[in-house]
Amino acid sequence: MQAFFAPEQLLHTPQQFMRLGRLMPAADLPDRAAALQSALQACGVPVHEPADPGRAPLEAVHAPHYLDYLETAWERWQALRRPGVEPGIEVLPNLAPYPVPSGGSRRGPCPSPSLVAQTGYYLGDLSCPIGAPSWRAILRSAHSAVAAADAVIAGAPSAYALCRPSGHHAHRDRASGFCFVNNNACAAARLQAHFGRVAVLDVDAHHGDGTQNIFYDRTEVMTVSTHADPGQYFPFYTGYAEERGIGAGIGCNLNLPLAHGSGNGEFLQALAVAAQAIEHFAPRALVLALGFDTYKDDPISVLKLDFEAYRATGRLVRRLGLPTVVVQEGGYMVEAIGPGLSAFLEGLHG
Ligand SMILES: [Zn+2]
Repeated sequence: MQAFFAPEQLLHTPQQFMRLGRLMPAADLPDRAAALQSALQACGVPVHEPADPGRAPLEAVHAPHYLDYLETAWERWQALRRPGVEPGIEVLPNLAPYPVPSGGSRRGPCPSPSLVAQTGYYLGDLSCPIGAPSWRAILRSAHSAVAAADAVIAGAPSAYALCRPSGHHAHRDRASGFCFVNNNACAAARLQAHFGRVAVLDVDAHHGDGTQNIFYDRTEVMTVSTHADPGQYFPFYTGYAEERGIGAGIGCNLNLPLAHGSGNGEFLQALAVAAQAIEHFAPRALVLALGFDTYKDDPISVLKLDFEAYRATGRLVRRLGLPTVVVQEGGYMVEAIGPGLSAFLEGLHG
């Protein structure tokens, strides 16, 4: 096992996000990455800095007009300053345009050249603030996933991408839920180009809505997500069992929502169903979107998993026997995510 992480990923230091009408201190902080790095070191997993292939691997799953926006938003935000007008400390939207994309639909670029309009168009909620160094951190986080995919393409049985910021809520042209670029989708697209048929298994506490949406009409990428029932939990609008894909992609998406309060038993049952579906799909490679916000004491968890669930997840990935890229997603109890990753790696390596 080898891991990938770029120190520039620490540069994204969000200050705030909206919760119940109040701007709160941000939850996706750089110390999450430090905790995961320590766990890798303790497990003897070497961490490499990824190459910098620029935007090209991101454009496999994201609209260029969206990446243009992310890349330039901070500079343009500064240019809004004029006498009597002082932009906030981070780029945040004050518009929520309708309709939002769904079901694999494709939006064009924002019809307005206004940064205010584009910020509402591209930042889907108030949890994705853009600061001065954010773009560089977002880009390098995606590069970690791309490098892990390249390692597996080169013959490694598995590789781990320490992605932060996370990615699975990022749509083709829309940020949300702390996510800007969909790291696991970048890895899946890269693996698909090489192996032909790929499955993405997302075990974060939240539905992997961005990944589902990106591949919703695709036949060669299966997306499977176990997550807390979205009826009363982010991302609310998707993640239900009846969402099975669209067009030729019908049958290539599987959602396994878990009742709030579910523990290891319910999770492992869902994981067994996920494994069966993946084996039936017969992919040649796997992406595991691994989140630890399912942990019983995570500050935003509604599930009750403990470290044994992560050990079992590692064992399941080993049993599937596919070339595997593990991409880090959420997990906000900093003291728990290192032990969570260690337990997963124990299960994976037997
Ligand atoms: Zn999550």
